[in-house]
Amino acid sequence: MSISVAILGSGPGGFYAADALLKSGVDCRIDIIERLPTPFGLIRGGVAPDNQTTKRVAKSFERTALKDEVRYFGNVEVGRDVSIDELRALYDAVVLAVGAPLDRPLGIPGEDKAGVFGSAAFVGWYNAHPDFRDLNPDLNTRAVAVIGNGNVAIDITRVLVKTRSEMMAADLADYAAEAIHDAPIADVYMFGRRGPVEAKFTNVELREMGRLEDCVSVVDPAQLPDAVTGDWSDRDRRLREKNLATLREFAAMTPDGKSKRAHFVFHAAPVEVLGGDKVEGLRLERTRVEGGRAVGTGEFFEVKCGLVIAAIGYTSEPIDGIAFDDKRGIVANSNGRVGDGVYAVGWVKRGPTGVIGTNKPDGQSVAADIRADFPQGKKPGREAFEKLLKEKGVRWVTYSEWQTIDLREIENAPPGAPRRKFTTIEEMLAALE
Ligand code: NAP
Repeated sequence: MSISVAILGSGPGGFYAADALLKSGVDCRIDIIERLPTPFGLIRGGVAPDNQTTKRVAKSFERTALKDEVRYFGNVEVGRDVSIDELRALYDAVVLAVGAPLDRPLGIPGEDKAGVFGSAAFVGWYNAHPDFRDLNPDLNTRAVAVIGNGNVAIDITRVLVKTRSEMMAADLADYAAEAIHDAPIADVYMFGRRGPVEAKFTNVELREMGRLEDCVSVVDPAQLPDAVTGDWSDRDRRLREKNLATLREFAAMTPDGKSKRAHFVFHAAPVEVLGGDKVEGLRLERTRVEGGRAVGTGEFFEVKCGLVIAAIGYTSEPIDGIAFDDKRGIVANSNGRVGDGVYAVGWVKRGPTGVIGTNKPDGQSVAADIRADFPQGKKPGREAFEKLLKEKGVRWVTYSEWQTIDLREIENAPPGAPRRKFTTIEEMLAALE
């Protein structure tokens, strides 16, 4: 009998696990269970709307979804529609690929003020994610503070300063395009608590900030060291030297009539969000790096801003019935093994780092574990799962129904754009009627 595998989550982690299982030669049937009607996780809801090339990986996930052994069950939420224990009873193996959807708190006074957002919420908002389409951030401000020096901080800054024409070929939500392009935003500050050498931007993303139509990147040359010092591997040192060279180019740039500025500010750790009920500014402490860590110098400064976005990383959500590692914000696991036929891949296994391809080895590893643990299947899997969903009255979305939603979104695209996304689950389901 085939091994029945349920994969929870249809982002890169889930799809690479399915693909690796199929390629491993295991006789298995795989059901991919997704909370939203739409698949692909962060490819759809996290990757920046102007980064369509990266989104092309979804085509290879589609080939996996259409394999005979694979079924997609969208619009099924574990915890609401079905429990982990029910899935364990029905499937030989359950693979958690649910990512890290929650924002890590900043942990500073004032972060509960209106106008402070985490990157998961803010990116979800402009990417038309149903959970965040009603976020309604007030962008009526000249200055924005983005906290963090990773690629998400760059994505957010770029989306806020690009012109309408630069975003023509993007799938930015209409309401977000309207809010962003009508906003008086002129200065976006990216604050890194460590230095330019420690920044986590990748160079392609950083370089793009030097080629924007109406925004100049601003760097204080005094913040740039002459050379990369510290204990880095050769590869890391080369990457950091590239970033430093790019930042030096930025430091030498002139505004050339551009009306917006993206400020790279290093050695600045946020200590308090200022204002009344609403954000009016941010207080930061200057830092120096000691042994790789940011250490406060006791010197403080403030910037005025009406919006603060913390792009400082994510955490996973605890799942009922599964032990959680609170400190790391992931499910407790030993190299992907959670126990009792449950496995983890991707960000819920190892935390929110790495690019899309980093999920591939996770998939290979879980496929090898499942192959070793189950010489053959014993549990009923798909038919019993469908019966359970029917009994519970759950309206699941099949892969071919997602293809219909996809087609409608593409048909609805404004000129030049790849699609206009539906922004609510109701709209998605209505498109199927
Ligand atoms: P990230 O790369 O880990 O960056 C997080 C940033 O937040 C770091 O600069 C970190 O500083 C800072 N930070 C953390 N806690 C902080 C605090 N309490 N106060 C101030 N700063 C704090 O994470 P990310 O930007 O969320 O990206 C997640 C992953 O997705 C990364 O691997 C990223 O490369 C990837 N990604 C890739 C792309 C792309 O390839 N185009 C796009 C988006 C995301 P420290 O370094 O000092 O900890």
